[in-house]
Amino acid sequence: LVSRQSKSEDTIIRVKNIEIGGSSHIMVAGPCSIESKNQLLTVAAALKDAGVTVLRGGAFKPRTSPYDFQGLGEEGVKIMKEVADEVDMVSICEIMTPSQIEKAAPYIDIFQIGARNMQNFDLLKAVGQCNMPVLLKRGLSATMEEFIYAAEYILYHGNDQVMLIERGIRTYEKWTRNTLDISAVPILKQETHLPVLVDVTHSTGRKDILLACAKAALAAGADGIMVEVHPDPQAALSDANQQLNIPEFNTFWKGLLHSGLYH
Ligand code: PEP
Ligand code: MN
Repeated sequence: LVSRQSKSEDTIIRVKNIEIGGSSHIMVAGPCSIESKNQLLTVAAALKDAGVTVLRGGAFKPRTSPYDFQGLGEEGVKIMKEVADEVDMVSICEIMTPSQIEKAAPYIDIFQIGARNMQNFDLLKAVGQCNMPVLLKRGLSATMEEFIYAAEYILYHGNDQVMLIERGIRTYEKWTRNTLDISAVPILKQETHLPVLVDVTHSTGRKDILLACAKAALAAGADGIMVEVHPDPQAALSDANQQLNIPEFNTFWKGLLHSGLYH
């Protein structure tokens, strides 16, 4: 169902007033985790001013350690709705279990399935049965085939509003948090009709190469970019080392617009 053979034209996902996968690119930005209304509103207002249309922020957080901040849960998705309504942006939040679908659905526009849940088949079936756009992240060490089959699950169960996002894979390389597999972009564009995005933050884990990687993603045919932005990254409750602050985001964004690759 996801293959080009079954449908040759590109899938375009329409949410509120935006299109993902059409002729223009999309920037998804926001903090790793929603920490408070003030935190999210500060970054959302700055992103909105810059012309960004999609706001991200995690409420149900998949954390490696049980001692780490686990997200605000339902309170977090409620904050997301208030803020997204206030600034008029489209919102994306991760869900980790089927039961979080009904908790989150009234408050957000797009579900994210994180890398750690790419093969959570019950979750894939459950989002397949709901009428919400889904951003599916590539698993930490998923092959292209596994990634494409994970998307296939969602379409098979009835939901064709699916977009894919490359977020880096595990390799032996230590100088980046993960290895950005840029070849995934043209492969996924050729093999499937779904929109393809690149998460430059989680794939690299370092702020100094984000612009180069975002340019590479767009040059390779990506439909959009995801980047983490926090008003005060050092104080962030998750991913403190890799999030851009607002001036850093503005520099990154200007560089991307200036490159002529983002339109
Ligand atoms: C995230 O986007 O917040 C996240 C946890 O990313 P990933 O699932 O790619 O690690
Ligand atoms: Mn993060």
